[in-house]
Amino acid sequence: MPAINRLRADAFANQKGRCYYCGSPMWLTDPDAFRTRFGCTRGQLPALQATAEHLVAVCDGGKTTAANIVAAHQLCNRRRHLAKVPLAPDRYRARVTRLVARGKWFDKTLHAVARQARHIPG
Ligand SMILES: [Zn+2]
Repeated sequence: MPAINRLRADAFANQKGRCYYCGSPMWLTDPDAFRTRFGCTRGQLPALQATAEHLVAVCDGGKTTAANIVAAHQLCNRRRHLAKVPLAPDRYRARVTRLVARGKWFDKTLHAVARQARHIPG
């Protein structure tokens, strides 16, 4: 397994399958089980897939090491890097958390998935 895949799987396990930024569940290897469990659509699956996120980006000298890799939704990962100057990870996480709480991070159907997931242990 390439190092990045192993680091992503380790981060996913350490974070109990929750996104580093928004705290909602992600899927890593079994999209169908995720869909059944959380009632999302096939179309929503790519956004909710776990990705390996470099806290310090590779272009800024970030390394592919356990200390620099977290697991984050494809959606949350991508949005961080859409900014010309991405926020530092802790500031971005605070921003995402605020927007999730206000129902302004996910679209309506994804928000329903995330909200439902808070009531499901583990
Ligand atoms: Zn997320």
